[in-house]
Amino acid sequence: MKACLVRAPAKIETNPLEYADVPRPRPGPGEILVRVNACGVCRTDLHVIEGELPSRKSPIIPGHQVAGVVEACGEKAHRLAPGARVGVAWLHRTDGTCSYCRAGAENLCDNPAFTGYTVDGGYAEYIVALEDFVYALPEGFADEQAAPLLCAGIIGFRCLRLSGIQPGGRLGLYGFGAAAHVAIQVARHWNVEVFAATRDVRHQQLALELGAVWAGGTLATPPMPLDAAIIFAPAGEIVPAALKALRKGGTLALGGIHMSPIPPLDYELLYEERVVRSVANNTREDGREFLRIAAEIPIRTHIQTYPLREANRALNALKNDAIRGAAVLNCRD
Ligand SMILES: [Zn+2]
Ligand SMILES: [Zn+2]
Repeated sequence: MKACLVRAPAKIETNPLEYADVPRPRPGPGEILVRVNACGVCRTDLHVIEGELPSRKSPIIPGHQVAGVVEACGEKAHRLAPGARVGVAWLHRTDGTCSYCRAGAENLCDNPAFTGYTVDGGYAEYIVALEDFVYALPEGFADEQAAPLLCAGIIGFRCLRLSGIQPGGRLGLYGFGAAAHVAIQVARHWNVEVFAATRDVRHQQLALELGAVWAGGTLATPPMPLDAAIIFAPAGEIVPAALKALRKGGTLALGGIHMSPIPPLDYELLYEERVVRSVANNTREDGREFLRIAAEIPIRTHIQTYPLREANRALNALKNDAIRGAAVLNCRD
């Protein structure tokens, strides 16, 4: 099969993804083989490719937002039949036995595997996944539209939940890429007022089109105190600015897997019971709940598609803020 793989982490400007022929994977016990129709491009992929996350498998096929169909089932995989439409996301596997898994916090599992990071991902024509960790895709979404729901959507949704934002509240979104452009649609559905802070004027424009009441630069101060905020941009220098925008008792959720160093904080920015918390991975329950809500609203993703073989171009565009909404690879060209 065709796949884009990384042999050694390198800056995306050097186009490190190699479009190559590799053996088609075979589903083992409990696994299914999925024919990938579309795979979303996530900032985490950029962190894997550029080595901001330590290399865990080499070579690695990145990608963890797969929309596709079941091609074949391995032994002991009986729940899904060939032809079923499925989504494959970041959480490839958990051990199911550690204290976190037993407490219902499988997103913090001590022994996890992650799609497109510790096991091969979806920048390919086929992928294997555990039947128990794939999602049924809601009707009404074409594969390319559905792909960004599987990480940008699910993680954005968990960020919304952990930010504690309530209906009618005021929410700040810092960085307005794939995750924020989905999260704002859920927030608006909950009648939340959204304030978008992002450096790219095109992204500010998209935020306003999607119903933000205010859009400004990343370090600009929104006109009113916020009940909660989420930082999706991987830039630690935003943390003090976002804290400054929060009301007393407000929560700041950090949505990324990697962030540049956070500068020293004046305690007064945190005092008065403001909370800063990170968001790590997601549970399968988050995924199922989000996909149900996404279909109900319904969410409309804005996408820019690229052929699989042009994954380097898609990731360079992502790094340069040139994607409006989400980038998606078409893996069937
Ligand atoms: Zn576990
Ligand atoms: Zn992701």
